[in-house]
Amino acid sequence: MNKLEEKIKKIQEHIVEQRSSTQKKILISEMKKIGIEKLPYSYSALKPFIDSETMKFHYSKHYKGYVDKLNKALSKKNYGDLELEKIIKNISKYDETIRNNAGGAFNHALFWNMLSPKSQELKGELLKKITTEFGTFNNFKKKFETTAKDRFGSGWIWLVLTKKNKLKIISTPNQDNPLMNIIKDGGFPLLGLDLWEHAYYLKYKNKRDEYIKNFWKVVNWDFVSKMFEMKTKTKLIESRMNKTIIKEYVEKPYIQSCSFKEERVFQDLLKDSEIGLIYGTGIHNALKTVPWLEFKPKNLSVNRMQGYYKNNERHNLSYLAGNYRAFCMIAKSVNNLLIQTGQEPLNFVDTTIEEIKNSVTRLVNIITINSSKIFEESSPFYRAIMSNLGGSILKGEKIEKLTKERLINKFGENNVEIVSGFGYQTDSNGNDGKITINGITQSLQIKPFSKGIIENNNFIVITSGTLKNYNQDLMVFTNFKETLIFKNTNTKMRLHAYEFPVEDLIYTLR
Ligand code: MN
Repeated sequence: MNKLEEKIKKIQEHIVEQRSSTQKKILISEMKKIGIEKLPYSYSALKPFIDSETMKFHYSKHYKGYVDKLNKALSKKNYGDLELEKIIKNISKYDETIRNNAGGAFNHALFWNMLSPKSQELKGELLKKITTEFGTFNNFKKKFETTAKDRFGSGWIWLVLTKKNKLKIISTPNQDNPLMNIIKDGGFPLLGLDLWEHAYYLKYKNKRDEYIKNFWKVVNWDFVSKMFEMKTKTKLIESRMNKTIIKEYVEKPYIQSCSFKEERVFQDLLKDSEIGLIYGTGIHNALKTVPWLEFKPKNLSVNRMQGYYKNNERHNLSYLAGNYRAFCMIAKSVNNLLIQTGQEPLNFVDTTIEEIKNSVTRLVNIITINSSKIFEESSPFYRAIMSNLGGSILKGEKIEKLTKERLINKFGENNVEIVSGFGYQTDSNGNDGKITINGITQSLQIKPFSKGIIENNNFIVITSGTLKNYNQDLMVFTNFKETLIFKNTNTKMRLHAYEFPVEDLIYTLR
């Protein structure tokens, strides 16, 4: 096996590992289909709580019965393929049989996952939330137990997260679930306890209180916490997502650039530590397979951090894993290709964190498999990535400082206002800054550029920045050598360049 093959093998192993750890996280989104949920442990595994005979009956007779009866009822009515979670959320549309059996199927599928053979301790955000809202963890347990003891007849006790993001303990009759639209003041179920006699009677007989107390010995807090985090994180991301992204460009060419709003979505995704890690690790693994790039974990001789080098020069690709603009462009372009070739697109919006993570995993997998094509220096994809990374990252800070100095020299300190980090972020109006010339304040769009060429009375500015129509009054192009200021009234776009009539160049600052 040669060196490259070895590398690829390692990466593939890593991807498989990463995938299985993602898959291990069984969450509600994976229970949507109406099938029998596999019991994640043996019948005898929950001994401190329940005996194996009860578990066997509970799982193979009662639970399976709900699933079978539900499917039978649905097929009779010709509802077609439905997702269990959807039925639950719209339960008022269905009859009593479906309500009871859909509830039974859903509640138990959740319940099996909420129990664990290993005794677990609650930690993290959910513990903080419980302590804040119930005073102490013990208070919460007491309240849960009291509510359970007060349940008359068959039903369930739940800890739910309400729409207002509060924790609440509620009790539902029969097989109703807090997500059902007929439940007043329901919520998203985090933890549930089955209080049907079939769940405990063989072992506990009439000592239901003891069954309730022993429940704490087997709660799968890891799962419950994940449900909580998934729900709270999804809310956070949903609120920032622009829902039109990633859906509208089937007919556009292969390489896609991103709008400011789209870039913000990917900026948020990169900030999520788990997503950032999946993407970052994936990108690094992909880069390590690029034959012409040299990875230097620590290059002490040139006194720089680790990174990727070519001809002893640190390469801009070193910044790829942390750059949200490139992330957005790659995701959008890959998605475009998937759509064009009839494959299922990646989903980054309007979905669960879990699905986003799966999409990112799929994305880095695609990049790794195709790394020799993507990171081929003459490929359009590579050039697009590089123009996205641009000089703005490696040289950004220095250029920014220089540009500011040049503007202040020319127009005076009081007349210059620059948004810092203009190379890769702008303020909410899309302005990179303002300058006041002869009492008139004008907004700026600042771009890095590599070269200016005069051709037939036109000034062509070759830029590594995004090509877009901007609303700002002035287009400012800057690099180590000079800063050019154009009126933004006759701006035209070319491939990797802007074009202006020569007379629109109003200042050249050095
Ligand atoms: Mn049950």
